[in-house]
Amino acid sequence: MQHTLDPSDTVPTMPYENELKVAVQAVRDAAIVCRKVQAALVTAETLEKKDKSPVTVADFASQAVVCKALADAFGDDRVVGEEGAGDLRGEANTPLRDQVVSHTAEIVHDASEEDVLHWIDRGGYDPAKEGAARRYWTLDPIDGTKGFLRGQQYAIALALIEDGKVVLGALGCPNLQHTDGPDGCLFTAVRGEGAKMLAIDGEGVEGTAVTVDEVMQASDAKFCESVESGHSNQGDSATIATILGITADPYRIDSQCKYAAVSRGDASIYLRLPTRADYQEKIWDHGAGSIVVEEAGGTVTDVAGNALDFSLGRTLANNRGIIATNGRFHDEVVSAVQSVIG
Ligand code: AMP
Ligand code: MG
Repeated sequence: MQHTLDPSDTVPTMPYENELKVAVQAVRDAAIVCRKVQAALVTAETLEKKDKSPVTVADFASQAVVCKALADAFGDDRVVGEEGAGDLRGEANTPLRDQVVSHTAEIVHDASEEDVLHWIDRGGYDPAKEGAARRYWTLDPIDGTKGFLRGQQYAIALALIEDGKVVLGALGCPNLQHTDGPDGCLFTAVRGEGAKMLAIDGEGVEGTAVTVDEVMQASDAKFCESVESGHSNQGDSATIATILGITADPYRIDSQCKYAAVSRGDASIYLRLPTRADYQEKIWDHGAGSIVVEEAGGTVTDVAGNALDFSLGRTLANNRGIIATNGRFHDEVVSAVQSVIG
């Protein structure tokens, strides 16, 4: 007997189901590397010496792990990553390279040195120079390196861009407390499908839905910003907060954990205010975080209220700064920001 397919029999598939699965697993694997390096190498001694090598090792190993997973699953996809393996190949960097290889090999068991360098190099794509592919990934293997070195917050940020728009994000925040579990969460978002919070140590892609908070008035809002005053103008944000009638202290936290905070209502606003006229925001610093906030119901623009344009290469060349909010008083925040920096 011939079996005809009844449409009601077919299981509906989630858009980007496979991409999401691969991205989540890649970020979880990278988080294992980062946590291990942060725990072992960020000692009081390295902090005191201001030795940056621990974060460099973790940065490269994290990029190798994620790029390897993407290469296996989606071999044709390019990756705009923060790091390149060029320097790492030099003789002088042999000790550093050995550490990167050994950390990567703990996740990818048979990884050779050549494999690792090759995976890192896969992240060197520049859509502006090489011609924009219809689809590519963007990766910050450790966002918030200063936070990482202080033993505080950082993120592993992976996003998929199609036709110049972010369509999927996986944002690992290994030190951020899960609202009902141990430290370490992972935020996911697929365009049109909402945002979720997962345990970073868990399995699968099921999680709890996250939504922005319900604060209706800017004056009741709490805003978050960079810990580093070199990355966001904290004097301007204080003035803007006064204009908006905000009395709560700024919530200073490193990395795209700021987007995570807004997405789940720990704060209602994220301000990233230019510290100099010529700085261009990097796409890997905003891809994953911005889609998580938008899918949680919030709004993300630059300081002039314009949409972020991810189609221009490695930077958001047409945008300046960032304003993310719960979406309820976004225009008011943009006006206040413009009155100070416009
Ligand atoms: P955060 O943890 O929010 O302070 O941001 C960390 C990110 O700031 C890094 O990934 C850098 O790419 C980026 N960054 C470096 N210099 C600047 C700058 N002058 N303005 C804005 N962001 C910057
Ligand atoms: Mg970064």
